[in-house]
Amino acid sequence: MGIIANINTVLKTIPKYVTLVAVSKTKQNSAILEAYQIGQRIFGENKVQELVQKAEELPKDINWHMIGHLQTNKVKFIAPFVSLIHGVDSVKLLKEINKRAKQNNRVIDCLLQVHIAAESTKFGFDIPEVNEAINNAKEFQNIRIVGLMGMATFTDNKQQVIQEFNSLKVVFDNLKNEHITILSMGMSGDYQLAIEQGSTMVRVGSAIFGHRN
Ligand SMILES: *Cc1c(COP(=O)(O)O)cnc(C)c1O
Repeated sequence: MGIIANINTVLKTIPKYVTLVAVSKTKQNSAILEAYQIGQRIFGENKVQELVQKAEELPKDINWHMIGHLQTNKVKFIAPFVSLIHGVDSVKLLKEINKRAKQNNRVIDCLLQVHIAAESTKFGFDIPEVNEAINNAKEFQNIRIVGLMGMATFTDNKQQVIQEFNSLKVVFDNLKNEHITILSMGMSGDYQLAIEQGSTMVRVGSAIFGHRN
């Protein structure tokens, strides 16, 4: 199947209130433009250099989301244009995003990444640290924390994935207010489970663009 058919299939299977981030990492501009031509405007990338280059080359009305691990020393490259940073996992990073946002006269929307997977390699705040991080962020005037992001363990164990997504949903429900409205969870392999557990934003790559090398 082609990109257009894939994206239509994904859109048909997600409710209207769920936002689709088309994860275009490693994919060519031509692939992104195919999705763009049928109306997709939100794309996610996980490498700063690739994100910057694509943002320069592609239409200016694309909303670019940084979904990967972000190093402090690279924030400055995306601060002028990024529309949402999903993977904020330290107060140090929040501080740097605030500084660079200010230099660009912007307020940058961020999601705090929360560690919910059993794998120790996945980044993020532990659940008990989330409240404190949000309190710390209140002093940063050029950042808006608009929600949470998490990744489940890569496993065939459906119950485990459900349980991990649910643990994030519980944290989210305790924080939810007029500013904190986004729960980013779910990828190609598990976005349906994530939506059942309360996701409002899914990050789907291979189910749209095909497998990556
Ligand atoms: C690559 C990536 C995705 C998309 O993964 P697929 O399995 O291809 O849908 C989602 N979220 C993050 C953080 C990623 O790095």
